[in-house]
Amino acid sequence: MEVEFLGGGEEVGRLGIFVKSNGIPMLFDYGLTPGEPPEYPKQSPPVDSVFLSHAHLDHSGMIPWLAIRYNAPVFSTIVTQEVSKLLFKDTLKIAGASGYPFPYSEIDVDGAVENFSTVEPSQTVERNGIEVKFHSSGHIPGSLMFELKNEESLFACDINTIDTRLLKGAKPVKCRTLFLEGTYSGQEHPERKQLEKEFMNKIDEVIDRGGKVIIPAFAVGRSQEMAMILMDSGYDVWLDGMGSKVAEILLEYPEYIRSAKDLKKAIDGLRVVYSNRGRALAIKGDVIITTSGMMNGGPVLGYVDKLCDNKKSAIILTGYQVEGTNGRRLLETGEIKMYGITKKVNCDIEFFDFSAHAGHSQLVEFARKCSPENVVIFHSDNPAPLAEEIKDFANVYIPKNGEKFEI
Ligand SMILES: [Zn+2]
Ligand SMILES: [Zn+2]
Repeated sequence: MEVEFLGGGEEVGRLGIFVKSNGIPMLFDYGLTPGEPPEYPKQSPPVDSVFLSHAHLDHSGMIPWLAIRYNAPVFSTIVTQEVSKLLFKDTLKIAGASGYPFPYSEIDVDGAVENFSTVEPSQTVERNGIEVKFHSSGHIPGSLMFELKNEESLFACDINTIDTRLLKGAKPVKCRTLFLEGTYSGQEHPERKQLEKEFMNKIDEVIDRGGKVIIPAFAVGRSQEMAMILMDSGYDVWLDGMGSKVAEILLEYPEYIRSAKDLKKAIDGLRVVYSNRGRALAIKGDVIITTSGMMNGGPVLGYVDKLCDNKKSAIILTGYQVEGTNGRRLLETGEIKMYGITKKVNCDIEFFDFSAHAGHSQLVEFARKCSPENVVIFHSDNPAPLAEEIKDFANVYIPKNGEKFEI
């Protein structure tokens, strides 16, 4: 098959893997790197079908642009579709408010949605002689890996291999060529149970000294997971931003999460912010879980604005912070850009590594168990440490964006 990374080669963001198998052109994910303005992948040639692994914008953000132009079906789970719709509209809103030009409109989003074709884990679809089987990827609810049968290839675009409160980890699939995300190449995660304990201890400490805790969290997966971790804490917990809408979607499709009962209990046990009045009340509570996870916008900035000079309070980041985002700036410099002004943050700043991605050793183990001849590493700022270990048992490729290769 012929392969070209339109984006996502040696970088985290704007993924697009163009593949031609038996003359049939197809695309695995088509995203953008959020920013002002966002960064886009290379323009995709016409394709016969599109496979969307999950709703995160670095994988999904350019789907409306593509689906309209080529009128190709977009295969993904119902959860990915429902959540993507929310994220597309939110992205358009941010683009409109920030005033930069954007490659598609609301009408294109509606058109793209009509091209969505629903599939489920362990299902196989056949189109023009190409068979693709879907496997759960354990990354966020509804996320998939793709097994391209005639090429004996597996596309693992964002995977987690451990069980979390929300999801079961991904299982290896035997293949000849493995396309493997490498976000955490060279970096290990702490053990989850221990991490949860230390996280709760930190929250106890902040609240005991009279402070409040802001948890910036991604709307999909992390907000709900945080709610579940905090559900028996007894604290006055508030949820702001898109995380509550996403929780509603997840409760509609309980087969995509480990325990709908626990999620429901967690959401019922906290208070959801619907308005500015709610925000004024939330700031009087103990813990606020709010978007955006990388602090580039959303209600989180309003809370930080109010609490950043309160030394007793804390901001606890819980996920990967992409270079150039406010969250990364906060961790590295203790400063944040708010409404165009750079501000020093004087409250406590903490980071807990609750990743939705497999860590270094987990990626190596996953790759080994797939017993591939070739491993193509992408979605990584630093693929070298992962390549170094995988080359003991497979040929390793680290493609650059725009480089065409046969595999
Ligand atoms: Zn992702
Ligand atoms: Zn990603």
